[in-house]
Amino acid sequence: ITIPDLVDESFKRIAAIDGDVKAFLTLDEENARNQAKELQESGKTGILNGVPIGVKDNIVTKGLRTTAASQILYNFDPIYDATVVNKLREAGTITVGKLNMDEFAMGSSTENSSYQKTRNPWNLDRVPGGSSGGSAASVAAGEVPFSLGSDTGGSIRQPASFCGVVGMKPTYGRVSRFGLIAFASSLDQIGPITRNVEDNAHLLEAIVGVDPYDTTSANVPGESFAKNLTGDVKGLRIAVPKEYLGEGVSEEVKQSVLAALKVLEGQGASWEEVSLPHSKYGVATYYLLASSEASSNLARFDGIRYGYRAENAENLIDLYKKTRAEGFGDEVKRRIMLGTFALSSGYYDAYYKKAQQVRTLIKKDFEDVFENYDVIIGPTTPTPAFKIGEIIDDPLTMYANDILTIPVNLAGVPGISVPCGFSDGMPLGLQIIGRHFDEKTVYRVAHVYE
Ligand code: GLN
Repeated sequence: ITIPDLVDESFKRIAAIDGDVKAFLTLDEENARNQAKELQESGKTGILNGVPIGVKDNIVTKGLRTTAASQILYNFDPIYDATVVNKLREAGTITVGKLNMDEFAMGSSTENSSYQKTRNPWNLDRVPGGSSGGSAASVAAGEVPFSLGSDTGGSIRQPASFCGVVGMKPTYGRVSRFGLIAFASSLDQIGPITRNVEDNAHLLEAIVGVDPYDTTSANVPGESFAKNLTGDVKGLRIAVPKEYLGEGVSEEVKQSVLAALKVLEGQGASWEEVSLPHSKYGVATYYLLASSEASSNLARFDGIRYGYRAENAENLIDLYKKTRAEGFGDEVKRRIMLGTFALSSGYYDAYYKKAQQVRTLIKKDFEDVFENYDVIIGPTTPTPAFKIGEIIDDPLTMYANDILTIPVNLAGVPGISVPCGFSDGMPLGLQIIGRHFDEKTVYRVAHVYE
């Protein structure tokens, strides 16, 4: 099979199915086909060479429309590529298009996109999860073998779980965020979504590394995650937090996790119940911190520099107001208001500062457990994918969806979701969490279970 054939397959599949799934916002067919031809003729080799990939629409791509699913960026064609996009090009992957998401990555169902609702390929009446819903659905639907997502509070792992694919949120700092449209900078990470663990390990290897353009990117030596998929978990110590199998987690989800643990036990690993006592404050802490950071990050969308600009403004302040009132959707406005309130003088100590303190306690819970255990295992989400429209009008229920993924972002550690069974005909995900920069062990365990 040639590279142009591969790319052709991808576009054929998209043409056949994306009218139903609605994963893509923008396609880049002509460029992708040209690039495929050039790559084929160059004779270049490499494990990812010629593989089609989809990119979440909050990752900037030079000359290719990048909207973060917001009306405020409806006409934005970036003048540079994100570092991950440059790295992918070096590895030889071919970007076929940009993937739908919740506006500015705020949401858990992709229903907050201002353009279209992506559907879960397993059942078109269900959500694909979010905010990287397009990224997970495109891989699950076979439109692309690989995609990139971003994860601030669960946005790679939760949609991967809902769509029955593999999604990794790397350690904070593992992957450069340069060119990722910022939501909450102390939490955001880019990561790979694929059909299996081995693909995922290869794709992460291609995008990691320190980057002079992102001072939070870490200078840790690159390693081969894929070479370490040895199948060996003998003597591995697994911690299972009781909070992760507690209230609100469906019986079938619990059973699927226990079945996965049995498989790992059969291979010589052992597990014990532990506690992450502060994880119950995770959702509250996250929504204070993430919204505070978002209110500051989103101040740049003012109608002056790029994107949407309202008409008929009377003066500069009126232009800002109209542009932002018309350009942002409801959820984004809700977060900006919440964040601005939390950061305002007089409330700062009670909310933002308190949340930072609780974040430290949550992080310490993880450190304590990792003194005695190699990985932490639990479900990715309390329930399988819900129906489109079912909870969109109830933000607090929507927020609670991320109860099991958010603590991982607050602690900055890596976490993966791998498929682990079905409930109600919908896929379930197993979450495997590791120490800082120990993606290697996370992948090794995920591979055995898979
Ligand atoms: N669902 C969470 C939120 O709405 C997480 C989103 C994300 O990880 N980008 O903020």
